Amino acid sequence: MTHLKKRASALALALLCALPLSACSGGKAPAAESTPPESSAPSQPPEPEPTAPAVPLVPWGTDQVVEHLFFHPLVAYPELAFDGDSEANGIDDYMVTVDEYNKILQHCYDNNYILVNMNDVWSEYTTENGETRMRRNTLMLPEGKKPLVISYDDTNYYPYMLDNGFTWKLILGDDGEIWSYGKDPQGKEVISQDLDAITILDKFVEEHPDFSLNGVKGCLSLTGYQGILGYRTQTDTDHPEAEFEANRQKEIAAVKPIVQKLKETGWYFGSHTWGHVRLSTISDERLQRDTQRWFDEVGSLVGPTQILFYPHGARPDGDHDQREPGPQFKYLQSKGFRIFASVGINSYEQVKKQISAVIIDRLHPDGTTLRWRRKDYLQFYDTWDIIDLDVRPNRAYDRNPNGPK
Ligand SMILES: [Zn+2]
Repeated sequence: MTHLKKRASALALALLCALPLSACSGGKAPAAESTPPESSAPSQPPEPEPTAPAVPLVPWGTDQVVEHLFFHPLVAYPELAFDGDSEANGIDDYMVTVDEYNKILQHCYDNNYILVNMNDVWSEYTTENGETRMRRNTLMLPEGKKPLVISYDDTNYYPYMLDNGFTWKLILGDDGEIWSYGKDPQGKEVISQDLDAITILDKFVEEHPDFSLNGVKGCLSLTGYQGILGYRTQTDTDHPEAEFEANRQKEIAAVKPIVQKLKETGWYFGSHTWGHVRLSTISDERLQRDTQRWFDEVGSLVGPTQILFYPHGARPDGDHDQREPGPQFKYLQSKGFRIFASVGINSYEQVKKQISAVIIDRLHPDGTTLRWRRKDYLQFYDTWDIIDLDVRPNRAYDRNPNGPK
């Protein structure tokens, strides 16, 4: 029952926070707003900021793995997510709860990982023949740290999630910071920074600056068919009417400052295709239409990106991207994509020789791996310390300490 008590106090906090945003900065008010101590005379020079001892930077070589974890949106209210409805098992399979996510971040930090930007890990160069190719870069990291990329798929706040215990959208608070908006199980509005993967990581990095290289956070992988970040910015051929379009324009205006703030605070973006399409079986014609629509409706809001996250992990050209680049892979590459990310059992990477592109796999902290893939994740955390079996559905999991591989 302890989790219920914890949840209740988190709720109480969240509700408190919902009232005056500025009164709820939790000790993280921007420096500009803090009042100087009364005793200091106006002419006195400001106290020097305490500086952390300089940690020497050392190279992380191109033969050393850059780990990559990806998350789906977090379960903020397990009692709504795991209520036995038709979505519950899918949420159990593919998501983690807020409490599990907090523990995962802490364990990654304790294991000396540091967040890096995917766009710094690989970059394009021109060969002697005048062709372009991608290459792995040597990263310069504080001594003792290991690089970690985190990406977040489907940060669109899909309508089906709203009744299932997820946050509803990102908003800007009166303090200019990113907060999440949603409703608790009783239907009360909750504005919080403790219920959403994005705001939780923001706070974690603020409290542990050495968890991030140069302030970088994670990559947000966006579809477009139900808008982005909780704003319904998509076109809809079923609703060509002026009223729909007027609302869409309002949503576009509302999301722009959120995108701007995310970029300023270390977040960056990738495509997850407009329609969450399965690239292994899609027709050429539909792929081209979908790609253009992503650029028109999502790229126009978040800016250019070279990163594509395969929906369902399904690789283009009938899953052939690990061999010769096929026509659909080449098409996507011609549209500017250079880093193609699937899902796998380790942080695999293959820099393509034939074309300027790199394909990678990501590990996936979620119910399936918390239950069944303990050994694949021990470098980050012990799944047994993370999984919250008190709130998840009563389903099978691996109890063997040596686990299956
Ligand atoms: Zn997805």
